[in-house]
Amino acid sequence: MHRSFVALDLTEPMRRRLAAVARSIRSHDPRWATARWVPPENLHLTIRFLGDLAEENLESFIRDLPGAVGALSTFELPLAEVVRPIPSSSHASMLWATFDDPDGRCALLANAVSDLAATLGVAPETRPFSPHVTLARSRRPIPFSADVTGRADGGMYTPATGPPDSMSVREVTVYTSTLARAGARYRRWASIELGER
Ligand code: ATP
Ligand code: MG
Repeated sequence: MHRSFVALDLTEPMRRRLAAVARSIRSHDPRWATARWVPPENLHLTIRFLGDLAEENLESFIRDLPGAVGALSTFELPLAEVVRPIPSSSHASMLWATFDDPDGRCALLANAVSDLAATLGVAPETRPFSPHVTLARSRRPIPFSADVTGRADGGMYTPATGPPDSMSVREVTVYTSTLARAGARYRRWASIELGER
């Protein structure tokens, strides 16, 4: 079985930006310094978690994915909030970077992927889709102060010259994940370009 998910890769400028914010939070907030931070090369935006799939199902999913998403056009995904503590700033167990989906194209993509996943018997997602990149996780909740966010972001971002507020989405990628003590290892199985047909 393969623990599988469909995700968007970050553009390199967006990856650098979020990695810089993460470094800044770690250095400004000792409570978060020891949380589990996602290594920069693993940062991604999950479109749909598929769970365990037999290899033949994974392969069939990948074969059908271009038909399911290839007709959707490429789109821009504007950064909304760096950083949002989840579920709350007083008891955060995750830190997310969140994205806006102004014309709903990302949700449309997630729906198309979910519809295909349903044909393989993947259980429907119970939570509403909200595009985000997980930056850090903590087993026990930690307070997160917006003050740190301000410093983390304000210190390195100026609109004219700074890193991007938005990233272009041109493809989706199917990953498998192997859980390990040192953190999950992802393996890229296939990337499907959008706007191709
Ligand atoms: P770790 O679990 O070791 O912290 P990870 O969460 O990055 O690492 P996975 O658990 O394999 O690795 O998850 C891969 C991706 O799927 C991540 O983006 C994760 O947030 C998402 N994911 C995992 N489980 C679920 C789930 N039950 N529902 C929705 N998304 C999930
Ligand atoms: Mg996980």
